[in-house]
Amino acid sequence: MDLVSLRRDVHAHPEPAFCELRTAALVLSRLRKLPVRLRMGPEAMRLEGIPAYPDEQALERFAGLAVANGADATDVETLAAQGTAVIADLEGTRPGPTWALRFDMDALPVAEAEDGGHVPAAAGFRSDYPGFMHACGHDGHVAIGLTLAERLADRDFPGTVRFLFQPAEEGGRGARAMLGAGAVDGVDRFVAMHLGLDLAAGTVAAGITGIFATTKMRARFTGVASHAAAAPQDGRNALLAAATAVLGIHGLPRFSTADTRVNVGTLHAPGNVNIVPALAELTCEARSRDGAVNVDLTERVKQVLRGAAEAQEVTVEIEETGGSTSLDCDDELLDAVLVAAKAGGHETVRLHEMGGSDDASLFAEVVQRAGGRATYTVVGGGNPAPHHNPYFDVDEAALPIGVDVLERLVRG
Ligand SMILES: [Zn+2]
Ligand SMILES: [Zn+2]
Repeated sequence: MDLVSLRRDVHAHPEPAFCELRTAALVLSRLRKLPVRLRMGPEAMRLEGIPAYPDEQALERFAGLAVANGADATDVETLAAQGTAVIADLEGTRPGPTWALRFDMDALPVAEAEDGGHVPAAAGFRSDYPGFMHACGHDGHVAIGLTLAERLADRDFPGTVRFLFQPAEEGGRGARAMLGAGAVDGVDRFVAMHLGLDLAAGTVAAGITGIFATTKMRARFTGVASHAAAAPQDGRNALLAAATAVLGIHGLPRFSTADTRVNVGTLHAPGNVNIVPALAELTCEARSRDGAVNVDLTERVKQVLRGAAEAQEVTVEIEETGGSTSLDCDDELLDAVLVAAKAGGHETVRLHEMGGSDDASLFAEVVQRAGGRATYTVVGGGNPAPHHNPYFDVDEAALPIGVDVLERLVRG
């Protein structure tokens, strides 16, 4: 399968965070043909401590779909039991640096557009899985990673290239799980590549600025139910506490030192119209372009949650369900990516302003702390709609550019 066919195949079978069973099985089947050292299961990620990991039912559902759509049943079973991360080390024939290249595999719970104005629908590779969609370009990332590994299989480069096929980028849980298995131990140079991000089609940005550090949180309020008319004073209102927290979180002060964001994305409270609500659950996020400010902001969000609970005499349980940090790209790697991209005749910019978050920043942080270098490279994909939108798509001309830049970068 060529680059574009690979991307379309992955696009048609989108799997959400940690359920990337067909995708990871495809990655394994392609990489096994190459002279790589493969790691999966506990050697590639730690399952312990992952917040809100998919339940048996979700894993079984995607395992069934994976096998029905051509994945190897034995691989799918192993991946479902041990996690979907795949790491492959490809050693060059000459001494040199150890590279780690990150390719994320997860899709989103978005229902893909069906009308002919959307290229994947018109060209017949729209999502086969109702309610799920590759709406961030990770389908392209997988295709680029696999094609690059095949190109580099001649081993004619200095050093070692480690391919990190990462689950669960969305929501910021996959990188942390892989770090738990030492995914970037011994790495000198880390590169994540993302398609799109509103960069002009075909343009290569050697790095990004302004990436947000983020913390995702879930808060569960537990109160006491009571008759809303006969004995409201005996109730302890969990919904009211949660609703107070929603306003309090959005009312937190801005920071003069760094850009910040807060959002309460969901609020659910089961119950009945005539009962004081005893349960409420919300999910929210804090973000800042400065990692330290995000830590501060996260603590203030938690204080609002605790204060709102206290005011209503209910309890609150706060869980961090994911997160990532900020990222400063290293000049030395920015220079190297620019040289590689220019040698390939591609349009370039040094830095692109990023409006989101990516837990590749956690890999970068570990590599940089150990004395290595990191960058987050973008290839513009001419997006007809924003990321995470049902009409999101990537111009497929960006795919070979991604492969070419990384290949030139590694070959030096
Ligand atoms: Zn995304
Ligand atoms: Zn993404």
